[in-house]
Amino acid sequence: KSKTELKGSATFYHHRLNEELQYKYLLENELRGALSNNEIFVLYQPQIDTKTEQIVAVETLARWEHPKLGTISPNEFIAIAEEIGLIKQIGLFVFSQACKDILSVSPNGKNALKVSINISPNQLMSPDFIESMTQIADEIGLKRSRITLEITENVMLNELGKTYNILTELKKRDFCISLDDFGTGFSSLSYLNMLPFDEIKIDSCFVNNITVNEQSKALIKSILAISDAYGMITVAEGVERKEQLTVLRTLGCHLIQGFYFDKPLTLATLQKNCLKR
Ligand code: C2E
Ligand code: MG
Ligand code: MG
Ligand code: MG
Repeated sequence: KSKTELKGSATFYHHRLNEELQYKYLLENELRGALSNNEIFVLYQPQIDTKTEQIVAVETLARWEHPKLGTISPNEFIAIAEEIGLIKQIGLFVFSQACKDILSVSPNGKNALKVSINISPNQLMSPDFIESMTQIADEIGLKRSRITLEITENVMLNELGKTYNILTELKKRDFCISLDDFGTGFSSLSYLNMLPFDEIKIDSCFVNNITVNEQSKALIKSILAISDAYGMITVAEGVERKEQLTVLRTLGCHLIQGFYFDKPLTLATLQKNCLKR
């Protein structure tokens, strides 16, 4: 390449980087006002029992709808919220909204709908996390045993002893603990032995290939065998096709979640289409 060409691409690269940084800076600033401007809300994605094909739980998924920038993915804004110290506020909002919503469509009692809520590592590690979750759930009146806290393997990057203490205390208080995106992060099988998980979520990347690829199927089989030995519930994420559900059911996976059954829904749609029979 000629010198000018090289210089040109370097400048181009520079511009791109600059634009990306500026966009991130813009998002950071806009996120600070997002909660008070009611731009953040939650959707609920059903989790279906593979045997009965009934909805037994929903996962709470946060959304940010900016009036000018449009929809920003939680993958993007949750990471920003963590960086700039907003995750606690957003987390509290999502948690209390989910408790209120789920209680309003499904009273406590037998066959009550369960609700899963994603918790990011910084949130889990914050000193008053256990107390505030307990207080909010109790004030709203949603039984804590109906609440599943989803954490990812990244939380293991923290001190294991501290994580163990937090999860054990949460379990003492009847919360359920789920290991989200299993197999995609910094996991080690020994964590399953050390930490008190009630549930494992098999990441969609394994589910994707289950009907075409024997290796993926073998991987899921072994995850299911381990979960079974530990008495954990298994949830398969990202189920998009009927054949995937059929294979997962045959292999003994307990719950599925994915576009095949439903995408994330507003509370109103969840109630109208899924809960009234
Ligand atoms: P996740 O917890 O693993 O959630 C599952 C993601 O897969 C969701 O993306 C969901 O909409 C998507 N999904 C569900 N079914 C299908 C399917 O059949 N096919 C495909 N391709 N995708 C499917 P979403 O809503 O964009 O959320 C992305 C991630 O953002 C979540 O992954 C979670 O880690 C994080 N997140 C979302 N809401 C919250 C929150 O309130 N707090 C925290 N800390 N994290 C959140
Ligand atoms: Mg999740
Ligand atoms: Mg997941
Ligand atoms: Mg995921």
